[in-house]
Amino acid sequence: MNKIPSIVVIGSLNIDIVVEADRPPQMGETVSGSQVHFIPGGKGSNQAVAAARLGARTAMIGAVGGDPFGAELLQSLKREGIDTSAVKTVSGTHTGVASILLSQGDNQIIVVAGANGHCTPADIDRHQELVRQADAVLLQLEIPLETVQYAAQTAKRLGKAVVLNPAPARPLPDDLLSHVDVLIPNETELYLLAEADERTELVDAMRRLQDKGVRTIVTTLGAKGAAYLTEDGAFGRVPGHKVDVVDTTGAGDAFNAGFAFALATGETVPAAVAFAVKVGALAVTRLGAHAGMPTLAQVQEFAA
Ligand code: ATP
Repeated sequence: MNKIPSIVVIGSLNIDIVVEADRPPQMGETVSGSQVHFIPGGKGSNQAVAAARLGARTAMIGAVGGDPFGAELLQSLKREGIDTSAVKTVSGTHTGVASILLSQGDNQIIVVAGANGHCTPADIDRHQELVRQADAVLLQLEIPLETVQYAAQTAKRLGKAVVLNPAPARPLPDDLLSHVDVLIPNETELYLLAEADERTELVDAMRRLQDKGVRTIVTTLGAKGAAYLTEDGAFGRVPGHKVDVVDTTGAGDAFNAGFAFALATGETVPAAVAFAVKVGALAVTRLGAHAGMPTLAQVQEFAA
């Protein structure tokens, strides 16, 4: 890789409030918890940190609330070298929150969008220059859909590579899909978007989704790695790497940023998938969605 790519992430910033307890409360019940952690998160900010760790010039467009969580998130992105000039602070609302209850090895999550819901098409217009300077634009679905749609249209009009991670899972209009160069669902998201049942072969579900207008589809398969279907119909798989799993939070975010990074440096789709599978594998060996993201040197040293 001989070029420093420039990536703009347009998406969410959340604070994850993680509470641990021996068991979840029943409706109307109070239980004592053992620990609480406040962890920066949100798919947008996770992907921005991952891109920056790899060495991309990274900027983020998004919104936080006028509270200490928002200020802390901005600080943590700045520490990673991310341009946060297009992350607005919305007074009168709170920063997005994911309230995560961990108990008995399982979790229950409630997400409240807060300021993320205030990231509008006007913000994309206001920061069009950032988009113009980017090689690739990376999107997810934790901000209003109309903003995602407008961002994809704008980026496409400016000739940028548009990468969409369609998470959390939800149906999407064909008009949005037709503005996406590379769609990166996990298996659940793929089958939902392709309107396919679980008996459908992976490649057929990907072809069905391609018929809706997406050029290239990359499906992440957890420990099994990832599969791709390119614009010219080439299907391939990249197996996962055997690693000691510590924390899978943010694996998908690491993958998406890794893919966008490699694509923006001019790599082919199969090479970008192979790179992203390594980034995802390294991310699951460490704790924390931000803290666990690897650097380019760590990815390059990682034995394949
Ligand atoms: P999450 O929502 O937990 O962030 P996801 O469902 O979006 O994850 P996955 O398909 O689970 O995404 O994982 C993304 C990538 O991370 C995989 O393609 C793979 O490269 C890597 N990965 C995830 N889990 C493992 C694992 N157990 N072992 C090795 N690599 C993994």
